[in-house]
Amino acid sequence: MAVPFVEDWDLVQTLGEGAYGEVQLAVNRKTEEAVAVKIVDMTRAADCPENIKKEICINRMLSHTNIVRFYGHRREGNIQYLFLEYCRGGELFDRIEPDVGMPEQDAQKFFQQLIAGVEYLHSIGITHRDIKPENLLLDERDQLKISDFGLATVFRHNGKERLLSKMCGTLPYVAPELIKSRAFHADPVDVWSCGIVLTAMLAGELPWDQPNEVCQEYCDWKEKNHYLTPWKKISATPLALLGKMLTENPQSRITIPDIKKDRWFTEIIKKGLKRSRVISGGSSDSSVLCKQIRSDIDISHFSHSEEKTALSSTQPEPRTALATWDSNSSDINNLVQGKGISFSQPACPDNMLLNSQLIGTPGSSQNVWQRLVKRMTRFFTKVNAESSYSNLMDTCEKMGYVLKKSCANEVTLSTTDRRNNKLIFKVNLVEMEDRILLDFRLSKGDGLEFKRHFLKIKKKMDAVVAVQKVLSAT
Ligand code: ATP
Repeated sequence: MAVPFVEDWDLVQTLGEGAYGEVQLAVNRKTEEAVAVKIVDMTRAADCPENIKKEICINRMLSHTNIVRFYGHRREGNIQYLFLEYCRGGELFDRIEPDVGMPEQDAQKFFQQLIAGVEYLHSIGITHRDIKPENLLLDERDQLKISDFGLATVFRHNGKERLLSKMCGTLPYVAPELIKSRAFHADPVDVWSCGIVLTAMLAGELPWDQPNEVCQEYCDWKEKNHYLTPWKKISATPLALLGKMLTENPQSRITIPDIKKDRWFTEIIKKGLKRSRVISGGSSDSSVLCKQIRSDIDISHFSHSEEKTALSSTQPEPRTALATWDSNSSDINNLVQGKGISFSQPACPDNMLLNSQLIGTPGSSQNVWQRLVKRMTRFFTKVNAESSYSNLMDTCEKMGYVLKKSCANEVTLSTTDRRNNKLIFKVNLVEMEDRILLDFRLSKGDGLEFKRHFLKIKKKMDAVVAVQKVLSAT
């Protein structure tokens, strides 16, 4: 896809991929400001061009510390560019150890920030509708930022609430009323998915494929069989909160004001504490029960007219792109306005990390580490580029992956996960300080499954994996 360059701004790294395009990191050569650029190919989104307009429209309404900041957007032909705050800490799912989770104190902090962001959204009448760890990003200080408003909608305007009927989201995260009812309130649905996120953070797995009676794990939860996984890994106080969040009847479900008063939400947790109710050793049983995340599916038969009504005359007049950017940075303004665009573009922007031009730019070489999005799914090798590449290819071939060389230094791996869902990820070979970094990035599929696959590949490549190097150098 052609991506225009703007004077002084380089696209240095692919941060992620979505259904209709990708997200790139743009860095200003002079000031070193960094911005995430979401590039949406309107021809690929042709089935629903309204969606991107709606995403822009909603983004313009938002301003909160726990929401990814929107600087503005620009359209060049069929390509829409959305300029967003760059979240260097990567995705929340990357901090979740499969089948283990994360320390309770960290989970509590992220959860408090998530609730603060969702409370804000609801206060201005917006529902996200696809809250999941892949859409929760972290900045350089590990502050959680809610991202991807592609499925968000307005549910309250001028104090008047409308019920929703569109079935959208990601099945393991959706609330039961979304599957069962024709019309439902928006805010309890987001509360439910926050409960699933909390479960994933505390147990490293999702509780069920979908919340309905055909799903045994959901029936077990309703019968309060808490001796089963994932619940047995979660201590009593957060489990009590989950009980209130994952309550089937949306009218009885806990509300955000009450979550904020909850004992676990407000308690001071000692650092490093991981209180397990049952000491569960391995991941064998949980691996059987662990659920997949079907990313991005639209499980709807929704009427676009419903969505259009929500955003038409009742929608507040959108502010201009630049009105949302209150910094003095004329550089970012130039980027948004598209001043000095040139269309010279490297075939594979990731290669720019290897490009001596970039590394030789004043002020940039010492910051390559800083700029690289903080991902746990990467490791250094102790062999040269060719051996790293051949070892990766041999290992993955033996493990049954379908391999494709996407562009120089990049390999795409495809497989199906244990739930038979497509899992695609990319491996970039990046040369850094005379060593080779293998950087794995999810393209499509479930974040936790991706992490499991990464760990398996890393284990198989053990002989060439170098001792861990800290990547978050400042
Ligand atoms: P999907 O099809 O998964 O919904 P999408 O096209 O809507 O994707 P996003 O989810 O917004 O795109 O972004 C895709 C990925 O790009 C994210 O999962 C994340 O890894 C990365 N990303 C997005 N925005 C940012 C940002 N502001 N800073 C850093 N990385 C980002």
